[in-house]
Amino acid sequence: MDTRSNFPRPIPEFDAREFWAGCNRGELLMQRCASCKKFRWLPQPMCPSCNSLESEWTKVSGQGTVYSYTIITHPVHPAAASRVPYNVAQVQLDEDPQLILITNLVGVSNEDIRIGMRVQVTFEEHSPGVMLPKFERVTSS
Ligand SMILES: [Zn+2]
Repeated sequence: MDTRSNFPRPIPEFDAREFWAGCNRGELLMQRCASCKKFRWLPQPMCPSCNSLESEWTKVSGQGTVYSYTIITHPVHPAAASRVPYNVAQVQLDEDPQLILITNLVGVSNEDIRIGMRVQVTFEEHSPGVMLPKFERVTSS
């Protein structure tokens, strides 16, 4: 049975705590170096550009493009069995080309997903108190 409560949940620990706390507030936060100001993903204690140990969390727009995607047809976890086929996408955020999140696209059929498609973050409740960042298609107005 596919319930959200038995689906694997993120474990907010170490360098990713602030990221998940932001998601739970409906904010997409990215870690950036406090010295050279470069964004980095995944969160980590040291800047790979200048080796500074000082970092800060910045709210980003949540806008980006689909960098790549795949359609999962064989569930990798029993809780996902009723979800197949589902998509897993890489979304490249507008703030920095190195910010590529692995996520799911929602509100769009798998057949309509395209690389380069404009998307915007949205947050879905996994279980009480746990929000996951997903992305939905931006329709041009
Ligand atoms: Zn730096």
